[in-house]
Amino acid sequence: MPLPVAPPVQEVLVYGTALVSAGVALALGLRGEQRQCPTCAGLGGIRCIVCSGRGDTTPQGALTKEVCRACKGATIIKCRTCKGSGFDRGLR
Ligand SMILES: [Zn+2]
Ligand SMILES: [Zn+2]
Repeated sequence: MPLPVAPPVQEVLVYGTALVSAGVALALGLRGEQRQCPTCAGLGGIRCIVCSGRGDTTPQGALTKEVCRACKGATIIKCRTCKGSGFDRGLR
């Protein structure tokens, strides 16, 4: 009765590791190009802190509506960290 031939475990492991390494490198490379901005979570804008996202700064009891000067009524202002792109490419 012949001895069972052992499968080439070493080769399989090396091949598998190389594939995984290539996959990780690819994923890291893509993320390095377009990393989500941590400030606005990729939205490109954050809620206006001047009007608290209301769009206007009308004082209580005022007759005329005062549009927020910071966001011009848009309720969000452009993210300074990513300059509105939603992705942070400055840190690598
Ligand atoms: Zn505002
Ligand atoms: Zn941002």
